[in-house]
Amino acid sequence: MMIVMKEEASQEQVDSVVRRVESVGAHAHVSEGEVLTVIGAIGDRERIANLDLQGADGVDRVVPITKPYKLASSQFKHGVPTVVEVDGRRIGGGHFSLMAGPCTVESREQLLSTADAVKQGGASMLRGGAYKPRTSPYSFQGLGDEGLRLLREAKEETGLPIVTELMDARDVEAVLEVADVIQVGARNMQNYSLLAEIGRSGRAVLIKRGLAATLEELLMAAEYVLKEGNEDVILCERGIRTFETATRFTLDLGAVPWLKLHTHLPVIVDPSHAAGDRRLVEPLSRAAAAVGADGIIVEVHQDPEHALCDGPQALYASQFAEYARDVGAHAALVGRVFA
Ligand code: PEP
Ligand code: MN
Repeated sequence: MMIVMKEEASQEQVDSVVRRVESVGAHAHVSEGEVLTVIGAIGDRERIANLDLQGADGVDRVVPITKPYKLASSQFKHGVPTVVEVDGRRIGGGHFSLMAGPCTVESREQLLSTADAVKQGGASMLRGGAYKPRTSPYSFQGLGDEGLRLLREAKEETGLPIVTELMDARDVEAVLEVADVIQVGARNMQNYSLLAEIGRSGRAVLIKRGLAATLEELLMAAEYVLKEGNEDVILCERGIRTFETATRFTLDLGAVPWLKLHTHLPVIVDPSHAAGDRRLVEPLSRAAAAVGADGIIVEVHQDPEHALCDGPQALYASQFAEYARDVGAHAALVGRVFA
């Protein structure tokens, strides 16, 4: 149930509604907008309905949210898109963001040269994994703490906010020292204790859709973070597993407009992991911008032939600026401002 307070509602009236919601064992999630305060009442529907809050002081209206995801639903924000702001860069609500960088932090030289190229090319954030979820335990697993240290150096050098993956809740403190956006990888999308931990950290989070997860499951993953009071959640479509093997995964572009209808959260697209082939990355990026994505996260490497991970899908750093111009132009066509 969503309780929309009147514009002129007082703090006392808000507190009184919260107390009444909590009196029936439900959770009250207070969201203060610029004009309105909205209280999400999460718990037994019938008991909340019996509170008869429709007529309570300061209450404008009570709207039932029928979806299993409540805080993530469009209804919860009465259709107003959430804008996530990271170090002055905005994503969502018309702001388009390009996050770029190597799959994995491999060395100081590799990271800093790629970081410099994406910064020059107009990226708004730098991506790069220190902890990597690899299918084989024998593959390079990332530099770990040393990778985080290099990311910090790249941030100091370029000023770009950092997007990096957290795989294990035991590393949360180390990752929080560097990450401006914590990435939850596709393989961890349903790691609910990790999601809740990130929710409690309050740091912005990028949740990648699981390889075989439905969009409703993706929104339920977001709900775990939102429920902890962390509203800075960005969703990412990165391709799903289908019978098709020609591309690494099947990029589900329909997910973007569907998510835009059902959630207020920003939605970005990862064309690199979906394609597995750099030649497809630019056309897929243009398509993602055209269907209304709020941004793109893309892999870039200064020497992809020698990359330790995901080289075939990495854009050449030297070609990034041209790529960014092209994608930015497509985002502009659908009214997005390139951050
Ligand atoms: C990545 O972004 O490098 C990555 C491993 O992505 P995903 O979790 O989508 O496979
Ligand atoms: Mn990768």
